[in-house]
Amino acid sequence: MSHTFDDKIIIPSLQEQMGLALGGEEIITPDTGVYFSAEEIDITIYDKIIICMSGGKDSWATLLHLYDIGVDRSKIELWHHDVDGREGSTLMDWAFMADYNRKLAEHFNHPLYFSWLKGGMEREMLKENEYSQPHMIETPDGLLELPRDTKRSKPSTRLKFPQVGANLQTRWCSSALKIDVGRRQLTNQTRFDQKKVLFITGERRQESSNRAKYNQFEPHMVDCRAGKKGRHVDVWRPVLHWQEDRVWDALQRHGVLAPVPYRLGWGRSSCMTCIFNSPTIWATIREYFPEKIMPIASLEDRFGTTISRDRINVLDVSNKAKPMEISDLVALDQAMREDYILPVVANAEHKWVMPAGAFNESVCGPS
Ligand code: SF4
Repeated sequence: MSHTFDDKIIIPSLQEQMGLALGGEEIITPDTGVYFSAEEIDITIYDKIIICMSGGKDSWATLLHLYDIGVDRSKIELWHHDVDGREGSTLMDWAFMADYNRKLAEHFNHPLYFSWLKGGMEREMLKENEYSQPHMIETPDGLLELPRDTKRSKPSTRLKFPQVGANLQTRWCSSALKIDVGRRQLTNQTRFDQKKVLFITGERRQESSNRAKYNQFEPHMVDCRAGKKGRHVDVWRPVLHWQEDRVWDALQRHGVLAPVPYRLGWGRSSCMTCIFNSPTIWATIREYFPEKIMPIASLEDRFGTTISRDRINVLDVSNKAKPMEISDLVALDQAMREDYILPVVANAEHKWVMPAGAFNESVCGPS
C-alpha cells in the first residue's frame, strides 16, 4: 500500500460529507490507516466478505476479481439495496433488478440479503414534516424493521428530487437509500461482533472526478474494533483503479453476460430513472418505457422543482436528444419484466457479446 493519508483528517471529512448521524456508535480511529491506493490487501484475515452487489458491471467486477485472486468463496455474501423498497413504488428501479440479483446469487451460490428504506426513494421524497421511514434489513435470522431514533432526529420535509451534484447531503439518494441502509445493516447484527468484516464496493476512479478522489482502503465508519463489540470493518474498493476495458474483460473471461441495461445502450446500470440521466437516456425511456417517465414528470410538477438544474422538466429534457435505437430485442423484452428469465452466464443459445452500452460513459452520470 502507498500514499497513506492522515486518518485524522480524511475519515472525519468523509463522515461530514456523508452527513450521517452515527447514532451513538463508537468510532475508533484504527491504527491500520487509510490508503489512497491499495490494489492488493491481505484478504485472508477477514471472517466475512460483504459485496455490495447492484447488479451492474462494476459490482460484478469486484466479485469476479475475488474469484481471480482465490478468495475463500464461502466467506462471501452479497447485499443489494432496493431503491424502490418493497411497498409498491416502481419509480426508480429496473423492474427485473431484484430478481436478477436473486438469480446471480443462486448461480454462484452466495447468500444474498436485500435491504431498503421502507417505501423507497418515492416515500422519502414525499416526506413532509415527518420522520423518515424505518430501514428494512434481511438477515440470516429473518427480516428486521429498524425504526428511526426520534430522540436524535427531527421531522423534516423533502418534497423535491435529490439535487444533481457530488455533495451527498443535497444529492441525498445515495446516502438515504444505500450508505445509511448498509451502515445499519452492519450495526444491527450481532453476528458481526468480534469479527473481521471486509465491506466491498465497486466504484472506479474513471467514472467521475469525485470518485477519482476516493480512498481504496479505509476503516468503515462503523468500525469499532477497539470497542466492546470488537467489530472490525474495513472498506475495500478493489476495482477503483480499473479502466472499463478491464471490467468487460473480467465479465467475458467468466462468461457473465452483460447485464440488461448495457445491452439496451445504457453506459451504467443504476436506477433506471437516475437523476443523472442524460437527455439521450430520458429520450430513450420516453420512447420505450413511457410509463417510467410520466410519474417523474408529474412529481416535478407537484414539487415545483425539476431534476434539471436548468429548471427544465424531464419531458423537455428528453426532447433535447434523439432516443437510442434499441436493437437487442431480447434484452428489451427482459427490461419489461419483473422476473429475470435470461441466463446469468453465457451458454450455447446466449453467446457472450460486448453490449451496446460498453464504453458509453457520456450518457449517464455518477451514482
Ligand atoms: S443511481 Fe442515481 S437516482 Fe439512484 S441512488 Fe444513485 S444517484 Fe440516486
